[in-house]
This record gives sequence, C-alpha cells and structure tokens, in this order.
Amino acid sequence: MATVLVLGGTGEARRLASVLLPAHRVISSLAGRVADPALPAGEVRVGGFGGAEGLAGYLRAERVDAVVDATHPFAARMSDNAARACAEAGVPLVVLRRPGFEPKPGDDWRRVPSLEAAAAELLPALAERVFLTTGRQGLSRFAHLGSLWFLVRCVDPPVPPVPPRLEVVLDRGPFTVEGEIGLMRRHGIGVLVTKDSGGAMTAAKLEAARALGIPVVIVDRPPVTPGVPVLPSVEEVTARLPALLAAH
Ligand code: NAP
Repeated sequence: MATVLVLGGTGEARRLASVLLPAHRVISSLAGRVADPALPAGEVRVGGFGGAEGLAGYLRAERVDAVVDATHPFAARMSDNAARACAEAGVPLVVLRRPGFEPKPGDDWRRVPSLEAAAAELLPALAERVFLTTGRQGLSRFAHLGSLWFLVRCVDPPVPPVPPRLEVVLDRGPFTVEGEIGLMRRHGIGVLVTKDSGGAMTAAKLEAARALGIPVVIVDRPPVTPGVPVLPSVEEVTARLPALLAAH
C-alpha cells in the first residue's frame, strides 16, 4: 500500500486524507500552532520536521511514496521546505492550493504584497476602525498603529506585540454573510484587512464588506516554488495521484 504524506493545516487537507483512506496509508502532518486542531482521519503527526533536511530524512524513514502539500497558501516556508526535501529524497510532490479570492462588481479592494504593506496602506487612515483577519502570527506588523482601533479575529489568543487598541474574537469559521455583516456593523468597522487565502470557509467577510461598501486591504499570496505542480482541488489531486505514484 502506498504511503502519502499530506502536509496539512487546512480543510482541504482533512478532506483529502478522508478521500485517500483506506486505499492508501495516509500520514497527515500539522505544524502544532493551534491548541485544539481539527484532526484529520488516519495517522497524524504534529510539529516541525527540522527544515528541509529533517523532512527529507522523515520521507526516507517512513518510506513515503508521494507528498501532497496542502498547507495554507501563506505557509511559504513549509512549502519551500517540501519542494527542497522532495527533490533531495526523490519523492514526487504536488501542491493542493485552492484558488484565491476574485473581486466582484462593487468591491473596493486594495491588493498589497505583504502584511507590512497592508499596515502602511491603512495610513493615512482609510478608516479608524479596522477588522483584521490575517491571523495572530502577523499581528506584530500592526502593533505601531496606535491611532487605529482593531477587531482581531483568530483561532487562538494572540501574543504581544499587538496593537494597543484592540478587541479579540476567538473563532474559526465557517462564517455566514449575515453573521459577518452583523459583526462589522456592531463594531462600526470601516475597513477589512485580510489575506488572499481563498476558500468558501472565510469568503463571507468579503461579501459582507461589499454589501456594506467597506474597502478591503488584501494581502497577495506568496509565490509557489517553480516547477512544482499546483492543483486547485481535492478531486484533481486524487486523480493525479496514481500517475505520481507510478512515477516513483
Ligand atoms: P510556515 O511559516 O510556512 O512554516 C514554519 C515552520 O513550521 C516550517 O518550517 C515547519 O517547521 C513548520 N510547519 C509548518 N507547517 C507544517 C506542517 N503542516 N507540518 C509540520 N510542520 C509544519 O507555516 P505557518 O504559516 O506558520 O503555518 C503553520 C500551519 O498553520 C500550517 O499547517 C498552515 O497550513 C496553517 N495555517 C497557516 C496560515 C497562515 O496564514 N500562514 C493560516 C491558516 C493555517 P520545520 O522547518 O521544523 O519543519
């Protein structure tokens, strides 16, 4: 039976693990950032591998036949490590990456290349009350913006440095458009800051911003390692897998 390592941390990764079982041995890998993660079916391992070298050693030790990088589109270091480790260990790799968000008529989006650029885009004030959904890891990039008020939504409580004026909502979705409109109205939100993560689980906030006429500062995805195939859905990865395994 072929062994497939799924680099996880996303809903797609969990779904892929379920689809590949029981025909394959599936090992899902989580970074261990979230205190109470939603667990995929099958074997699960948690924590870093120790860079690309560590991952290459793991691939050999576990006799992994193929790797699916189904990490979050912004987990760039893990994706880069996976590309280098698979090249070194001679293991086929495919990236499962859901499509990014697409603007629709009525949207007022300002695309920026990084969290730092998003923070810069907020000043001079686009609006004083900001809804920030970029995750707790990048909050330090907004910590100097003392003149703005932030509503921060993340899965686990953020750690300092954080903006001085903020309220934290701990939640992990999926979210509804009505819920997002209510949340933004209640807090008098004037601008939304988000990453181009894509996916239905978190798209409601963009619809809500459109409905309320609120501008959106949207952080572009980091690029994928050249030469690594990128597929947009669990179904396409499942269809490609037999060829990948046959080539190994
Ligand atoms: P990252 O910056 O690309 O990765 C940093 C390090 O964390 C990696 O070098 C690796 O450590 C370890 N790591 C990351 N993902 C891993 C995985 N699936 N299994 C084992 N080790 C992993 O990643 P990140 O942005 O911190 O994201 C961490 C996790 O959260 C990922 O699973 C990602 O899918 C999920 N996530 C990220 C975001 C985001 O916006 N970045 C949002 C939602 C969910 P070693 O070098 O020691 O192997």
